[in-house]
Amino acid sequence: GPLIGVLALQGAVAEHAAALQASGAAVRIVRRPAELDGLDGLVVPGGESTAMARIAAPVKMFEAVREHREAGLAVFGTCAGLILLAESVADAQALEGFERIRGLDVVVRRNAYGSQLNSFTTELPVQGIGEPDRPLEAVFIRAPVIEEIRSADVEVIAEAQGHPVAVRQGRLLAASFHPELTSDYRLHQYFVGLATS
Ligand code: GLN
Repeated sequence: GPLIGVLALQGAVAEHAAALQASGAAVRIVRRPAELDGLDGLVVPGGESTAMARIAAPVKMFEAVREHREAGLAVFGTCAGLILLAESVADAQALEGFERIRGLDVVVRRNAYGSQLNSFTTELPVQGIGEPDRPLEAVFIRAPVIEEIRSADVEVIAEAQGHPVAVRQGRLLAASFHPELTSDYRLHQYFVGLATS
């Protein structure tokens, strides 16, 4: 079966590994660039994008992920992982001077759901993941807002509160929520399918 890496700099690593295994993938925990070799796909988990950027810098991890992405590696970024995949971060001060993976033609704003909505759960219809009548339970934790889509190649597969919250662009998939925190793994299954195609 496919081999999917989970970037393990910081954040929700174990939950993604379990979700991927339940979706039929073999999983490799990835901490250094050499561990990207031979992967079909890579998950960049949620957590704290600024912390991940600091930990990644000394080993040039994001430069390495970017090179593999440009060579066709499928990448799934969730929450902080979406921030790291975005071409543009609206409030980039905290990430200034740090590499990101980039490649997804969207503009995101960190922690932008407002204090009352910092964390919330919603029943989210998602296109293309099967069982259209059964929404995904989506958990948002200090999530980034996708403010703008900058390419016609970006397909919005889910929207909540007037913003896209799950998007796909070629072999890139991103969600502003945490699909690894529930036991409904349809988005992981979708990614495993994308990585193998
Ligand atoms: N607020 C975090 C950040 O800016 C993202 C939160 C998350 O991944 N749950 O990186």
